[in-house]
Amino acid sequence: MPVTDPEKKRIAIQARLHMKICFNCGCRNDILATRCRKCRNGYLRLKNRNLGAKK
Ligand SMILES: [Zn+2]
Repeated sequence: MPVTDPEKKRIAIQARLHMKICFNCGCRNDILATRCRKCRNGYLRLKNRNLGAKK
């Protein structure tokens, strides 16, 4: 079901992609997090925010 409303799409993208991913265990953390909430690893990356990325 494609999202046609650009404003809704922007909100959805923010909700889904503004997060950090732990390199160690791969779990999602808050965008403001400095360490993983699960394994306390400090090696976090930003979620890929490229538009149109598959999956
Ligand atoms: Zn982790």
